[in-house]
Amino acid sequence: MDFAFDARTEELRGKLLAFMDEYVYPAEAVAEEQRAQLASPWDTPAVVEELKAEARRQGLWNLFLPDAEYGAGLTNLQYAPLAEITGRSPQLAPTALNCAAPDTGNMEVLSQFGDEQQKKQWLEPLLAGEIRSAFAMTEPEVASSDATNITTYIERDGDEYVITGRKWYISGAMNPDCKIFIVMGKTDPDGDDIRRQQSMVLVPRDTPGVTIKRAMQVFGYGDHYHGGHAEVIFDHARVPVSNLIGEEGGGFAIAQARLGPGRIHHCMRLIGMAERAIELMCRRAVSRTAFGKALAQQGVVHNWIADARVTVEQLRLLVLKTAWLMDTVGNRGAHTEIQSIKIATPRAVVDIIDRAIQLHGAGGVSQDFPLAELYAGARTLMIADGPDEVHQRSLARRELKKYV
Ligand SMILES: Cc1cc2nc3c(=O)[nH]c(=O)nc-3n(C[C@H](O)[C@H](O)[C@H](O)COP(=O)(O)OP(=O)(O)OC[C@H]3O[C@@H](n4cnc5c(N)ncnc54)[C@H](O)[C@@H]3O)c2cc1C
Repeated sequence: MDFAFDARTEELRGKLLAFMDEYVYPAEAVAEEQRAQLASPWDTPAVVEELKAEARRQGLWNLFLPDAEYGAGLTNLQYAPLAEITGRSPQLAPTALNCAAPDTGNMEVLSQFGDEQQKKQWLEPLLAGEIRSAFAMTEPEVASSDATNITTYIERDGDEYVITGRKWYISGAMNPDCKIFIVMGKTDPDGDDIRRQQSMVLVPRDTPGVTIKRAMQVFGYGDHYHGGHAEVIFDHARVPVSNLIGEEGGGFAIAQARLGPGRIHHCMRLIGMAERAIELMCRRAVSRTAFGKALAQQGVVHNWIADARVTVEQLRLLVLKTAWLMDTVGNRGAHTEIQSIKIATPRAVVDIIDRAIQLHGAGGVSQDFPLAELYAGARTLMIADGPDEVHQRSLARRELKKYV
């Protein structure tokens, strides 16, 4: 395996690192100030739109999409180190580059499974960064890590589907720019094959019967930069049958296809978050004195920094190997590795950020450093996109199969 990045990746890395220094990091404080002045906390601060325009001008746009017709046409291996850099400022950088979840997964679904009309109406404005989107699968009433439990009903009535159900933690849905939901529900709840009962439909936000009920919190955070996480009610919301994505019964398979790339993107951004935490830890350690010595002279601090560095190097190699496998043998061939990184990365990064918080004392849990919010974001990734235990179960089953 060649560990060097190719010329295109190096060129984009250079541009992106400069973009981060010149535009993104300085915009973090500006965005906070602007947000405090907004009429609604869910509106987008003006500086975010300025970042988007600049990123697009520089060709740092839609880097996540391997489809060259719609996106940058990068392989997973080329995109992974770029996603890592955006993870250093997770509130701003992914959005600035039009590479933020859940839009990325939704754009992938539309580019792979959408028909021409759906692409024109929804994919094109998403690719242009003019609108945002949400993916609505999880339901408060049922264990939604098992998608076969979903109860939202998508009932055919003539030329329309009627959608009824309650969803929550629907990321991005609080943002008024979020104009379209991809909703997972059941078109055939009594079907024999439990993996063919589900379908996905496009539901515009302004459809009568769609209510954004409330913003769910994450450890008390609103997660405003990601458009929050909404509870959404679908009460006999009607859409034309042409809003079906793919075929009836294809929802489960589309969900599987959607989550593979999304998981690796999350893991790369998590590594960027860990790098930011290590940087903050080191800067704090050399600049703060307790009991007559810089914190950097304490052995325990050396252990934290060294362990963090070793962990990040291990994770990065595993994520890059996974990206390379996805490019060479496909997502199915990279199944074990995708699950491995999804299990390994969030928990290790949570641990690194936790040490960085500890080193900052009270400042670590405050709003004056990004650490507390980074922690909350990383911790949720042990649950979102499938809880750790679900991945462990399926990975262990595949291992055990070799011996029976
Ligand atoms: C910040 C955030 C953003 C999110 N964004 C979205 C979004 O945009 N769209 C969306 O649809 N959903 C979203 N989710 C929801 C997320 O995908 C679900 O929370 C997740 O799939 C788990 O489903 P659940 O909450 O129903 O937990 P459950 O399915 O009830 O599981 C609860 C716990 O049970 C245990 N468990 C479950 N199965 C097993 C098993 N097989 N073996 C052992 N233990 C098991 C695990 O510990 C698991 O954490 C988001 C969640 C968060 C926190």
